[in-house]
Amino acid sequence: MTAPRERLAQEIIDAGRFLYERGWSPATSSNYSARLSADQALLTVSGKHKGQLGPDDVLATDLAGNSLEPGKKPSAETLLHTQLYTWKPEIGAVLHTHSVNATVLSRLSLSDSLVFADYELQKAFSGISTHESQVLVPIFDNDQDIRRLAAAVQPWLDAHPDCVGYLIRGHGLYTWGPRMSDALRQVEAFEFLFECELKLRALQKS
Ligand SMILES: [Zn+2]
Repeated sequence: MTAPRERLAQEIIDAGRFLYERGWSPATSSNYSARLSADQALLTVSGKHKGQLGPDDVLATDLAGNSLEPGKKPSAETLLHTQLYTWKPEIGAVLHTHSVNATVLSRLSLSDSLVFADYELQKAFSGISTHESQVLVPIFDNDQDIRRLAAAVQPWLDAHPDCVGYLIRGHGLYTWGPRMSDALRQVEAFEFLFECELKLRALQKS
C-alpha cells in the first residue's frame, strides 16, 4: 500500500508529463496540487520543468499557503490553490495551466466572463449533464500580487458555488475536482472549448 503522499506526488508527476506534452504547461510555467489532508495540500515547487517532475519537486503547505518543508520554495501562486481547498472540502486536486488558447481567448475577451453553451463536451464538467446548460467562466485581470488576486477570486467563488474553473487574463486557467483525474478531464474539456471558440471567432470574422 503506497503512502498517500507518495501516491499524490506520483499523480502530480503524471499530470505534469501529460499537460507538458499537450503544450499546456510550457517553459516551467503552471502549478498543480492535491489535497493531503483536511488542512494540508501537496503542491509543485517553484520553477520546475513540468514534464520532468520528480518526487522531490512537491512540497506540503498549510491552507494559508505556508511551506511545511523548510528549504522548499512554494510556487508564487500557492494561495490560489489553497484558497480552493478552503472553499470546498470535496476538492481533492487543482490544476493551473498556461496554454496558448487560454492566453489568447482571455486576452481577446473584453468582458469579465465567458459563456459556453450548446457544446456536447460541457458534460465533462462536474455537475453538468446536458449541452443545454451553460458553463460560465469568469476572467480575472492578471496580477503579480497573488494575495490581491485571490481576494478578487473569492467573492466570485462565494457567489457561484457551481463554478468549475476560471481564467486569468493573458495568463492561464484554474480548474479542480474531487480527484486528479477529474481535474485533468476538466482541463481537457476547457482546452477543447477554448479551441472551438477561437476557431469559431476566426471563421465568423472571415
Ligand atoms: Zn500561472
